[in-house]
Amino acid sequence: MNAFARQIQERSGQNLSRCYQCKKCSGGCPTARWFEWPNHSVVRMIQRGLKDELLGSRAIWMCITCETCGARCPNGIYLSPIMDALRALAVEEGRPAAEPAVLAFHKAFVASAKRFGRVHEATMLAAFMLKSRLFLQSGFLGEAAGGLKLLARGKIPFRPSSVKGKAQIDRIFAESDLKL
Ligand code: SF4
Ligand code: SF4
Repeated sequence: MNAFARQIQERSGQNLSRCYQCKKCSGGCPTARWFEWPNHSVVRMIQRGLKDELLGSRAIWMCITCETCGARCPNGIYLSPIMDALRALAVEEGRPAAEPAVLAFHKAFVASAKRFGRVHEATMLAAFMLKSRLFLQSGFLGEAAGGLKLLARGKIPFRPSSVKGKAQIDRIFAESDLKL
């Protein structure tokens, strides 16, 4: 097994050598249409050590961690922790994200959870829109109006507040190796 495959296997906890390319994972993935390659090919590419192709791909950013692939796999291989490991490695190595808006969402989400101990939707979405520059797109005003309605109805709290166990959350972040 090559060094890259060993690294992804260790980080994801998935036994890649059990894959026999039956394609059941690819058949059930709801976001595979936005991947450059079907799911079973992603596994094969890791086995072949195609690190640059994978770390620069859209596929690693389009996985929504639904775990359908793992439920369908006869060998119990879950693509979601594999995609997590690939994304984390791409960020650690400073590779440009093929889907920058998805990375911007991850960053805004983690920053909000870190700051308040839980996500405050209004400020998190504002930070995401600014970072991703989505506010420059034509559909933004419609989305912003939807958000304002939710705020007005009290469905989203206007003011952020910290959770009770914030010190524990701080400890979790301090002990994690999260690089976002
Ligand atoms: S379902 Fe499992 S064994 Fe089949 S191709 Fe996908 S990862 Fe490999
Ligand atoms: S966990 Fe990711 S790769 Fe697996 S089926 Fe869901 S979206 Fe597709």
